Amino acid sequence: MSDDDRCLQCGETRGEIKAGVRANGTHYCVTLTGYETVEIDQEWDRHRFRPWGNKALKTAGIAKHAYEKHRLSNIDALQWAACEDTIHGHAVLPYDEPDFGTVAGQCISCGAKNLTPNRPPREEATE
Ligand SMILES: [Zn+2]
Ligand SMILES: [Zn+2]
Repeated sequence: MSDDDRCLQCGETRGEIKAGVRANGTHYCVTLTGYETVEIDQEWDRHRFRPWGNKALKTAGIAKHAYEKHRLSNIDALQWAACEDTIHGHAVLPYDEPDFGTVAGQCISCGAKNLTPNRPPREEATE
């Protein structure tokens, strides 16, 4: 346990959190969002320093083979984990999709190319 440990949720270190508690009497575990008006995005009851358990990683959509890699990933990093680390994997269309700026065999999530399509063919227009 060290002051350099980082909360996996709000991303602050123990040292920063302690300093905040000294200054304000309390220090919430929150992530903020917004540019002109900053709002609370997510809020937790307590800071989290413990590594994620298998259940939390599974809930976050992480694939089993990537559990060890993501034990100490920040919650945002879990949310934006690379396709290879997730249960759903790449999302590869078998056709060009100008709306996403992708071509056939390219992942619409991460942009990796020359993959085997794993999404169904485009549905034919009915009209
Ligand atoms: Zn926190
Ligand atoms: Zn991908």
